[in-house]
Amino acid sequence: MAAFTDCDHQCEAGCASYGSRPDGCRHYTCAWIDGWGAKSDRPDRLGLIFEVAPGPVGGLAVRGVETRPGGLDSDAAQAHLDDWRALRAQVSVQRYGA
Ligand code: SF4
Repeated sequence: MAAFTDCDHQCEAGCASYGSRPDGCRHYTCAWIDGWGAKSDRPDRLGLIFEVAPGPVGGLAVRGVETRPGGLDSDAAQAHLDDWRALRAQVSVQRYGA
């Protein structure tokens, strides 16, 4: 499935095939699922999803990907990016559709 496109299984309630979803969906995780952030930071609410992994030279590598156009531009998103950078994480971002 191409990035930034709706999945055929997506429905109003979430996933119409949740019980038999593919392994890629079953094993995917993000910072919010792993316990980071508040309820308002859920990716569809924040407009940004954070993926956190060990950095290639130590520390953390944080990737922020917009879940909607302009998601990176909110004050909340920018504050979170600043917080990650304050932790000396290697931060990269991806605009919606880019
Ligand atoms: S969990 Fe996977 S199969 Fe279900 S809607 Fe999301 S991308 Fe599609």
